[in-house]
Amino acid sequence: MLKNTPKIKINSKATHRLRTRHPWVWKDEIQLSGSVPESGAVVSVQDSKDRLAGCAFFNPISKIALRFLSFEDENIDEGFWRTRLEAALSRRPLYREEGDLCRLVFSESDGLPGLIVDRYGPVLSVQMLSAGMERLQETILGILQELVEPQAILLRNDSPMRVLEGMGATKEVAFGEPELPLPLQDGDLKLWVDPWQGQKTGTYLDQRENQRRLGALAKGRVLDAFCYQGGFALHCAAGAEEVLALDSSAEALELLTESAALNQMPNVKSLRANVFDWLKNEAKAQSRSFDLVILDPPAFAKKREDVKAATRAYKEINLRGMKLVKPGGLLFTCSCSYNMREDMWKDCLREAAADAGRTVHLVESRTQASDHPISLTFPESHYLKATLLRVE
Ligand code: SAH
Repeated sequence: MLKNTPKIKINSKATHRLRTRHPWVWKDEIQLSGSVPESGAVVSVQDSKDRLAGCAFFNPISKIALRFLSFEDENIDEGFWRTRLEAALSRRPLYREEGDLCRLVFSESDGLPGLIVDRYGPVLSVQMLSAGMERLQETILGILQELVEPQAILLRNDSPMRVLEGMGATKEVAFGEPELPLPLQDGDLKLWVDPWQGQKTGTYLDQRENQRRLGALAKGRVLDAFCYQGGFALHCAAGAEEVLALDSSAEALELLTESAALNQMPNVKSLRANVFDWLKNEAKAQSRSFDLVILDPPAFAKKREDVKAATRAYKEINLRGMKLVKPGGLLFTCSCSYNMREDMWKDCLREAAADAGRTVHLVESRTQASDHPISLTFPESHYLKATLLRVE
């Protein structure tokens, strides 16, 4: 530990939990006395028996008061951050060879709490979601520049999650002059991606492996509901006769149309619609007309309190989605809500199948792309449930 590192003491409950190596300590589990360190400071953590428990980012504003950086006695200096960033890159050794899109850093899962780094070809799009990372911005960007050698770095610090850490929303070009949107290679496809305007850091990178998998299975008529810029729709277009892509965002559909043109895929049709309303009308018609239905909605349960209402919404779209599948066809259905736990998700799908009056088999349980690594000691990092079902 570096000299003069401020100390924070945790209570016995948090001390007990240290055995699990979960990296968070809640606000009501710390004991403050004397001067309070600044928000985002690196502190040394003392357990309830005054033993050194490791070091962490401190934030007195956030519900998550401490985010552990290490459970050892380490110097948190430039070398520490360099080692962590190098380790993150070494978990993705083929990131340059495997196309233009890759998540290079996934926050706590890479031992870098609150840091997201996504690669969009020559451009890096970075988010700082903890006060600790925000303070280290210059150091982190400097090391990334050296290790990855991008042409530009964008800071997409406009996530609403930053409010929880007491930080405002900003967007800036940290360096370079990127020409946007970028035509990027993703497998056999070229996609237009705009890391300045798009959702999150530019687009949703977590479904890439699932998109490829469905691309290999797609045939006949495909429905891509909640399509955003058409990641699934475009991957399915080569194998399918016709793909119908639905979303409520006109800007997202515009980029989808341009990507479809870039890949010469006239069989992709998009429609601006509220998926709930659209499914309600279609399911009424009992038209079992799609060989593959994809449901990839936004997170309905962002908070634990939302789970009940979210379950109803998930059940509704899945029930209706199942009704649209031709006998023997496929439903690929997703929940990116961490709070919707695996068993609840399966229960919800089971009830949807029963109410739809269809026999449904589980074909594959899938999850987020492997560049969003799941840390076993940090269950929150395992958020995406992506379930492939056969509907008879
Ligand atoms: N499947 C996409 C990601 C989907 S993200 C991919 O693979 O990249 C969720 C999408 O749902 C967003 O594009 C959002 O615009 C859209 N959305 C949210 N609520 C909606 C609604 N009620 N009807 C239609 N689209 C909706």
